[in-house]
Amino acid sequence: ISPPPATEEAAAALAAELRPVVRGLARAYYTDGQSLVGDTQYDRLFGALRDLEAAHPALRTPDSPTHRVGGAPLDRFEKVRHPVPLLSLGNAFDADDLRAWYERVLKGLDGVLDEGERPALAAELKIDGLALALTYEDGVLVRAATRGNGRVGEDVTPNVRTVRALPLRLADTPPARVEVRGEAYMRRSTFEALNERLAEAGEKPLANPRNGAVGSLRQLDPTVTAGRGLDFWAYGVGPAEGDLPARHSAVLDAVASWGVPVSPERAVFDDVEAAVQFCQAWAGRRDSLDYEIDGVVVKVDRLDYQGVLGQVATAPRWAVAFKFPAREATTRLLDIEHNV
Ligand code: NAD
Repeated sequence: ISPPPATEEAAAALAAELRPVVRGLARAYYTDGQSLVGDTQYDRLFGALRDLEAAHPALRTPDSPTHRVGGAPLDRFEKVRHPVPLLSLGNAFDADDLRAWYERVLKGLDGVLDEGERPALAAELKIDGLALALTYEDGVLVRAATRGNGRVGEDVTPNVRTVRALPLRLADTPPARVEVRGEAYMRRSTFEALNERLAEAGEKPLANPRNGAVGSLRQLDPTVTAGRGLDFWAYGVGPAEGDLPARHSAVLDAVASWGVPVSPERAVFDDVEAAVQFCQAWAGRRDSLDYEIDGVVVKVDRLDYQGVLGQVATAPRWAVAFKFPAREATTRLLDIEHNV
């Protein structure tokens, strides 16, 4: 915000104005899959509120949308408590933000790193869909839950069982119990074909593939989900009983060996500059994919280092989302026109 509010009263008034706006936009986005404004605009409003709260600690109300992850789980589904919360991610909007994040990582690992050691980074595409936690027991899918508010999600197991991209039974030798985390998404081509079908049937078209993925999964009738051709990319593992590799990138290799789709568009770098180049290259190539990405997620590869770094209120310190600039305004105008 510039200029920043001069008095406590002015800051309080601005926060009181921002809070319901951010809360309303977040509810539409997470609960209904609707983007009422562009992501950049949302990030700016959210950032303004967060900065105000940082500068004026008295404004940090416990119900502020800045303390929350995602949206409330819908009542029409059984609620599921996540044993380990599904968090949000901190953002980097340019190369310098990413370098600054890496500096904080180095500081956080002070005393742990060897002299001159630069911790390796894993970089993956940030898929624009919705997060799912899939629990496999003895290799069998027993539960699928949405992220919801991070602590409590919705049980969408019958719907996820219809997603062909996902194995109902894991291959190879998975741990006795493991929660695979990843993003359910809709391919652009699937989305376009679906909208044609909806138009022919005289139904309202979906606004964008993310909206298509959210809407297709949160159906009370799983046969509707089955016809929607959803896809999935795994990006991590939650709680597990059994042995797992010591590096995030190797964990993803293991998940792929169990038969769960893992995007091949990922890499490990031994320093931040190479990760910066990966992010910038993908910012210019995002349209070459058949699915939507809104950035690149960069993670400290060693899991023991991740443990040392820990998390802040709603996001891990060991990962950051490098966000791409928003798409042209026309897409957003269309979104608003379709009331999504
Ligand atoms: P986030 O989406 O920025 O990051 C966390 C999520 O990223 C995870 O839950 C996971 O679902 C996803 N993800 C995708 N690929 C991943 C990977 N490879 N590794 C790890 N995670 C991966 O955080 P958030 O809190 O869900 O959402 C915040 C963002 O959502 C904002 O930055 C904003 O752009 C957007 N948003 C927009 C509006 C709007 O009105 N336009 C409203 C709310 C939120």
